Amino acid sequence: MRFADVTTLGVGGDIDDFVEVETNAELLAAVSQAQSAGLPILVLGGGSNLLVGDAGFDGRVIALRTRGIDVRISETPSGENRGTARVRIAAGESWDDIVAWSVENGFAGIEALSGIPGSVGAAPIQNIGAYGQEVSSVIIGVDVYDIVAGEVRYIPADELEFAYRDSVFKQGLEAIVLSVDFELADARATRLSQPIAFDQLAGALKVEMGAQVALADVREAVLQLRRSKGMVLDAQDPDTRSAGSFFVNPIVTEHFSRSLPADAPRFPVGEAAQDRVLEIGAHVPPLAGPGLVKLSAAWLIENAGIPRGFSLPGSRAAVSSKHTLALTNRGGASAEEIAGLARYVRSMVQSQFGILLQPEPVCIGIEL
Ligand SMILES: Cc1cc2nc3c(=O)[nH]c(=O)nc-3n(C[C@H](O)[C@H](O)[C@H](O)COP(=O)(O)OP(=O)(O)OC[C@H]3O[C@@H](n4cnc5c(N)ncnc54)[C@H](O)[C@@H]3O)c2cc1C
Repeated sequence: MRFADVTTLGVGGDIDDFVEVETNAELLAAVSQAQSAGLPILVLGGGSNLLVGDAGFDGRVIALRTRGIDVRISETPSGENRGTARVRIAAGESWDDIVAWSVENGFAGIEALSGIPGSVGAAPIQNIGAYGQEVSSVIIGVDVYDIVAGEVRYIPADELEFAYRDSVFKQGLEAIVLSVDFELADARATRLSQPIAFDQLAGALKVEMGAQVALADVREAVLQLRRSKGMVLDAQDPDTRSAGSFFVNPIVTEHFSRSLPADAPRFPVGEAAQDRVLEIGAHVPPLAGPGLVKLSAAWLIENAGIPRGFSLPGSRAAVSSKHTLALTNRGGASAEEIAGLARYVRSMVQSQFGILLQPEPVCIGIEL
């Protein structure tokens, strides 16, 4: 088996040791065997946020296929409905199936995250987000297997250090997410979404920002918008042979952003600044706080002179024909071809605007 067979980019070399697990007990056994054999471990969900090099991975790949949904309607001690539902979902469930389930059953809070591929267990890893929702706003905690401590433990959301496309997992916590606990709004009576928080989505729904509309309408509108950008997996659409957005939107100081052309989109970053003392050598978390703005990586790429559909001569990797932020495999590309295109895009944006774009997918065995 090759990573090319199990990732949405369709690139990457051999997997020598592949184990699929359907229960947490099987997972722990697979981890313990690998540890005894001195093999590094790579957990695989849907393979939709991974770029693995052509040499593959010298260790054990564990594909998580655990299933299960447990719903509890939150009640006060006197038995009154609090208006929320606590839902525990196994890591191996498909994220988009869960969104569809929540919409069908009247639970609100993740409807704008429709159409994102991958597994539930991977959702907290980079704090998936789209169309005005981020999964961190509805996660209350996760059960993990801590690989270093060798124990199962619960991590509440306030210890997960969620930020834009970031969490404690991306900062080096070696742990496998077993299940995720969500608190969703109980909208079974109204079937209404959470307030719409994204201009383009409000426009597609023909409502004002902040309006609440039928959950099913939000899902449909998001899926349509995403399809128009090649952001819903579709075997018939070569623009979806990608890892989604290949670069995160850079966050820069408002001061720096003034050096960019006037028409460069800027979105103020609203979260409160968090003062933290970091040890020397510690991972420096992404900037967050007042005086900061998020830029559009897609705008930077286009305005660095890279059009949709662009590819380097002789390469089978190309920028999506629908969206400059997605790098795609046009058939038979190697991981090195994808990486070569990524390097070129980065260097063009850096030389034009002085910003080094950061990749969104997890890169293994490949340097950008
Ligand atoms: C067409 C397309 C559109 C996309 N759109 C979006 C979008 O709108 N917003 C967005 O945020 N992302 C988007 N993505 C990226 C991707 O879908 C998400 O990051 C998703 O959460 C990845 O899930 P996965 O199961 O495929 O993870 P994988 O690719 O299998 O793994 C990604 C990383 O997470 C780790 N991991 C996976 N499962 C676990 C676990 N249970 N415990 C610990 N570590 C784990 C892996 O080891 C790896 O490091 C898109 C991708 C594609 C292909």
